Amino acid sequence: MHEGGTDARSSGPERRGAGWSLQIGTALGIPIRIHLTFLLLLLWFGFAATARGDSPVRAIVFLLLLFACVALHELGHAAMAARFGVRTREIVLYPIGGVARLENIPQGKAELLIALAGPVTNLALAVVLLVALLALGMPLLPGSEAALSAGNFLHQLLLANVVLFAFNLVPAFPMDGGRVLRAALALAMPADRATSIAATIGQGIALLGGAAGVLSGNWMLVFVAVFVFLGASQEEAFFRRRAMVVGRTAREAMITRFETLAPQETLGRAADLLLATHQQDFPVVDAWRRVAGVLSRTALMKGLAREGPGGAVLEAMVRDVPWIEPTADLEDVLRILQTDPSIPVLVMERGELVGMITLENLAEFIQIAEVRKATA
Ligand SMILES: [Zn+2]
Repeated sequence: MHEGGTDARSSGPERRGAGWSLQIGTALGIPIRIHLTFLLLLLWFGFAATARGDSPVRAIVFLLLLFACVALHELGHAAMAARFGVRTREIVLYPIGGVARLENIPQGKAELLIALAGPVTNLALAVVLLVALLALGMPLLPGSEAALSAGNFLHQLLLANVVLFAFNLVPAFPMDGGRVLRAALALAMPADRATSIAATIGQGIALLGGAAGVLSGNWMLVFVAVFVFLGASQEEAFFRRRAMVVGRTAREAMITRFETLAPQETLGRAADLLLATHQQDFPVVDAWRRVAGVLSRTALMKGLAREGPGGAVLEAMVRDVPWIEPTADLEDVLRILQTDPSIPVLVMERGELVGMITLENLAEFIQIAEVRKATA
């Protein structure tokens, strides 16, 4: 599985790998983290094996090897993404699988190849394991007499990779197969039609899977089906939002009428402005019209609590503010804002502040574009 940075899901508390995850290494320059709940899974696997009378060490080693295959699957996505110039921020391994967080997911052939690269990695691993079994002269079907042999171990890993390959290619979001289907359809038709067809197919599969789960009493299948159904609607909403901003520039969406503050002004004056206007974030501009930072509502409140209304804006403002040129793609702005919605993106032309874009006003822009499209 893999996600693009524009995806709302990647703006959660784990977007920087902080909290609940532990970095275990780096591959291809990408930090690889495990979610802490993964350690619970290891313990549970060990206990379950002991209860069955199996070796807990063997069970844990198998689980670690299995997750190495999942990590390689994610690295497959990342390596293909790198070929299209897309960076991967991190790979996180959860007990239910891995996620490669890409900075963005390009459209067209690149999307198709990036989505395919993960499952294909599992297929390649399966072939390698198959060759290893043949080279070791072992039967291709595991015999019950060798339950604890190395051959059985290889068989289990081979089977796991075949399952990972097949399961990920089920054509439903958020599985890789959903993206493969969408990208393949988009090569032959407009992107938004491809997205709704792919989402409908994904939801259909989820409904069938859910019904089969209820009828057979397999609640795990019902759980996965609900997850896939929600994933499909989320993915469709995301692609719709993106379709509305593709090809548009920052200039078209930016706020041009707004108040600014000077660095030496007081927080009391900033609080007055907050009440008197609709504005939540105030760019801080010095006497030479250079941007020094932004005083967001959160920063203002913190500053007021710390220093009172007499405190200076300079002390409370956020200094590291993202900025772009008026000709920049609105898609990039959407990505920046969804990664960090706490601060607006400033629009600068030849070093001078000409506008700003907040997540709220970008949402308005998307709404207007949707209404216009519906009535066109
Ligand atoms: Zn994948």
